[in-house]
Amino acid sequence: MILKEEKAIVVFSGGQDSTTCLFWAKEQFKEVEAVTFDYGQRHRLEIECAKEIAKEVGVKHHILDMSLLNQLAPNALTRDDIEVEEGKDGELPSTFVPGRNLLFLSFAGVLASQVGAKHIVTGVCETDFSGYPDCRDVFIKSLNVTMNLAMDDTFVIHTPLMWLTKAQTWELADQLGVLDFVRNNTLTCYNGIIADGCGECPACKLRKRGLDEYLRSRKGASHVRF
Ligand SMILES: [Zn+2]
Repeated sequence: MILKEEKAIVVFSGGQDSTTCLFWAKEQFKEVEAVTFDYGQRHRLEIECAKEIAKEVGVKHHILDMSLLNQLAPNALTRDDIEVEEGKDGELPSTFVPGRNLLFLSFAGVLASQVGAKHIVTGVCETDFSGYPDCRDVFIKSLNVTMNLAMDDTFVIHTPLMWLTKAQTWELADQLGVLDFVRNNTLTCYNGIIADGCGECPACKLRKRGLDEYLRSRKGASHVRF
């Protein structure tokens, strides 16, 4: 495949989704680098976790200082005094930072251009869409065009998880042979607990629901096969 000859930058947080994307990219591209944005996450462990995974996977890891994001939009992901809550009645959850993906992907584009990468991989997903408008497929396509115009380049933004449910994202990790790695080494929990997390926060609930659903379906499938 032609992509095997090319280089990609993965937008990488150290969570389940972006770690799965990192392994996906390793399969697809000749060379992969990861970029993590440090925006004063309230759990510093998130950055450490990303560092460890990048080291283990053997990819070059860029950490960009995005503390200005917290200056612009203090929110539950960065501030201890704001509770993490699910959005009710179409409201955005308290973890929402307006335009975060717009900023992150734009910076990833600049980095890609600096390191000679044509491909940008992000784990955004419309299926588990919790109201973030810049996770939508239409936004990504629009940004791809804008970035190419802005930098007079031909970047391709890849979103391997865009239409997957959480269960299907676990399935993808399994197909890539890294289900246990993703399960044990990633941090998704809003309370900063690695692997299966606290089990109580919205991120843990979503992750667990998907994993249970996938493991049930896998059990069912192997039962049929044997
Ligand atoms: Zn949790």
